[in-house]
Amino acid sequence: MKTFHYHRATSVEDAIDAAAQTQGARFVAGGTNLLDLMKLQIETPPALIDVNRLGLDKVERTDGGGLRIGALVRNTDLAADAVVRRDYAVLSRALLAGASAQLRNKATTAGNLLQRTRCPYFYDMRMPCHKRRPGSGCAALKGFNRNLAILETSDSCIATHPSDMAVAMRLLDAGVDTMAPDGMRRTIPIADFHRPPGDTPHVETALKPGELVVSITLPPPVRGRHVYRKVRDRASYAFALVSVAAVFGEDGTARFAFGGLGTRPWRAAAADAAASSGAKAVAEAALAGARTTDQNDFKKVLTARTLASVFRAQEARA
Ligand code: SF4
Repeated sequence: MKTFHYHRATSVEDAIDAAAQTQGARFVAGGTNLLDLMKLQIETPPALIDVNRLGLDKVERTDGGGLRIGALVRNTDLAADAVVRRDYAVLSRALLAGASAQLRNKATTAGNLLQRTRCPYFYDMRMPCHKRRPGSGCAALKGFNRNLAILETSDSCIATHPSDMAVAMRLLDAGVDTMAPDGMRRTIPIADFHRPPGDTPHVETALKPGELVVSITLPPPVRGRHVYRKVRDRASYAFALVSVAAVFGEDGTARFAFGGLGTRPWRAAAADAAASSGAKAVAEAALAGARTTDQNDFKKVLTARTLASVFRAQEARA
């Protein structure tokens, strides 16, 4: 690990000011991904701004009937929150499907959204990777890509976004609340927060340099049956091959979001619109435009089968 300057911030303003003083400074909280990346020297920030003591660890009702989740709420605490379990159950289930209990105890809400891909070539410093070193190439395109993305890929990168929590946030139309170095606050819709790779796969979010995520806001609850179904190579501590987040509404409508398929949490309006036509139609709509390799073409069939299973469970309950 390379040496770096460390600053323990005492307020949001202090954190933002400290980050603005060093180009390339990074905020750190749980550190469950960033510290690994630093040990491998994939990331070498000259300064770390510790944001653990900013008090952004509350889950609160908003005036509009939604929920504001502090950026530093630990994944375990968010999954166990009584309001989340009752009104946003898909979020609780997605959190519990991710990582391990130890990691969930440490990982934060903002850090989960910002975690980086687990593409094996991203972590192998000997291999070309546009995301790690722009312009160097992409070893995955002709390498081992069984786990990688089939939607919103580019000729530069086909890495999947690894988060389960972010898929549920996408389903629930979350907003990412931030503060910029100039003190401006804004809310970025989750649909615009993660960026598809295009020809700049190293640019992963809409955040500007030094902009800090302070909370995530959820709209009022979507009533109905919440589902998070994750298919993976082993029963725990594995990333999704395919995951389906769904809410089957009390009014007969349904909405869907997907993990393991896209370079960012995936949602398609056409898939929601196809809900009344059944699982096959939803799968076809969700996968329109998919671009597969010989190794990951199976994800199309797996998506259809996972959706069929989700629909069967819903019909059995109805
Ligand atoms: Fe790097 Fe993306 Fe290619 Fe993986 S898929 S090697 S992360 S550029």
